[in-house]
Amino acid sequence: MTSRPGQQDEPVPGPDDGPVTDDFQLAGTPDGFQRLWNPHRLAYVSGGQDQVRDESSCPFCAAPARSDEESLIVARGTTAYVLCNLYPYNAGHLLVCPYRHVPDYTDLTVEETAELARLAQIAMTALRETSGATGFNLGMNQGKAGGAGIAAHLHQHVVPRWGGDGNFLPVIAQTKNITVTLDTVRNVVAEAWADAEAAFDARQASTSGGSGT
Ligand SMILES: [Zn+2]
Repeated sequence: MTSRPGQQDEPVPGPDDGPVTDDFQLAGTPDGFQRLWNPHRLAYVSGGQDQVRDESSCPFCAAPARSDEESLIVARGTTAYVLCNLYPYNAGHLLVCPYRHVPDYTDLTVEETAELARLAQIAMTALRETSGATGFNLGMNQGKAGGAGIAAHLHQHVVPRWGGDGNFLPVIAQTKNITVTLDTVRNVVAEAWADAEAAFDARQASTSGGSGT
């Protein structure tokens, strides 16, 4: 029987060997780790946010030019829009982005600041209605040091929370259990958006001093 280095898992059958079957042991010793294969993340790992050098390479600049379904856009405003996060912390994790390619919260105009806040408020209203979210995390990571994945283009996270959603999986296995697909989330929230906006405006109008716009 002959053998070649590195080919121990594929023994070359000799004349006295029995028939080849699947009943064999692969080389190596199991290490007890599970593997979660995520080849789609290679683009981030190999290039990271350094890929986003300007508007032409920025996914938040490119998204509005495509269809809502293709870009997972939930709603479009005048100066800002809302889309699903490709890498959600929870199901329903949305991002509110200004159309302008600006990195910092202080770069926003008064109008953009107001619309960013309004879209986040409507997003919360829609997520409460569609998913029964009982809590939220709202946040903007500013700069690389602040943990921003794409620091060059400002985006506000709207993460719905439910009691008990932070179970043992993220703690011991660094794994989040996401139970619905992104296109389902987009469809559900997009369909609920107009009603959520109307409900939000009605509540504003009923509040003393609320403009309702
Ligand atoms: Zn951009």
